[in-house]
Amino acid sequence: MDIKVTKAAKTGTRPKDEDLGFGTAFTDHMLVMDYSVDKGWHDLRIEPYADFSMSPAAMVLHYGQAIFEGLKAYKTPDNKIQLFRARDNFKRMNRSAKGLCIPELDIDLVMDGLKQLVKLEEKWIPETLGTSLYIRPTIIATDPFLGVRSSFTFKFYIILCSVGAYYAEGFNPVKIWVSKDHVRAVRGGVGEFKTAGNYAASLNAGELAKKQGYAQVMWLDALEMKYIEEVGAMNIFFIINGELVTPDLSGSILPGITRYSVITLAQKWGMTVSERKISIDEILSASEDGSLTEVFGSGTAAVISPVGEIRYGDRAINIGDGTPGKISMKFYDALTAIQYGKEKDTENWVEVIE
Ligand SMILES: *Cc1c(COP(=O)(O)O)cnc(C)c1O
Repeated sequence: MDIKVTKAAKTGTRPKDEDLGFGTAFTDHMLVMDYSVDKGWHDLRIEPYADFSMSPAAMVLHYGQAIFEGLKAYKTPDNKIQLFRARDNFKRMNRSAKGLCIPELDIDLVMDGLKQLVKLEEKWIPETLGTSLYIRPTIIATDPFLGVRSSFTFKFYIILCSVGAYYAEGFNPVKIWVSKDHVRAVRGGVGEFKTAGNYAASLNAGELAKKQGYAQVMWLDALEMKYIEEVGAMNIFFIINGELVTPDLSGSILPGITRYSVITLAQKWGMTVSERKISIDEILSASEDGSLTEVFGSGTAAVISPVGEIRYGDRAINIGDGTPGKISMKFYDALTAIQYGKEKDTENWVEVIE
């Protein structure tokens, strides 16, 4: 693939690994592509990272026709760069595109562009275990038009940033708060797509949880306010009687790639895995009778996030002894070993960038 590359006149320097946070240390270049009805997706190119200029009437700014993805590139001990399940992210992006009336991408083409961009930005990939290069593909609707319909023009872009270790302060369990008044998504809506509005819709409950000292919101289903769906922007897993249980994809849950990876590993390890409805009442009673032994969230940012407490109204469920559970640790270790190239990838999840 011949991609036009315009190099930045001035390049930045990557902060020290210990100073890296999340989502601020952007690299020097980005991948960009435009869509119009007559040309389709066209003009894939690498440009210096810079502000976009767009009409204040651009449809994305008013009606939220926007989708995105989140994935990472990792440095291996032998200095290779590798992507983890990147194609699956673009497949999911195309599902989100369909859901939001956005034209789909040619996955081979954007994979080529992404690899070229990551290679060009190699110096931005930190090397300490736990750090990575975060990749944010995005599509926005750009028609300058206030009428309500799907846009005729779109912009696709990928920006990158160096990110620090998520568990710089240790792999500590978090406290989560079950929202009784707010829901994230409803079946038939856009909850299963990675679209900007889902995040906007989650902010209010997130703030309420934080005010009360909880890190994340646990979302219940919107129809009965009874079944557990997700935690913050992570999928959720429970170990009940030694079995791995996670909510089935009901239509309002984001199909996490980390979620699929956890399920695949668990099956390989001979665990019983059950994707089904789980009510908050079941979790309360499993906690009382001692059959609930571990709870953890899964997502690209944290990989695995152990949960130590679930607050539901005036009841608090404590899980474990304040340290991460053994099975949560095992998933974290196994997934990160594959991502960072420390363990052989038997699942074909990893793609090395040559
Ligand atoms: C992105 C996301 C996840 C996690 O998906 P991964 O592919 O594992 O990173 C879970 N829930 C929501 C709402 C998300 O947006």
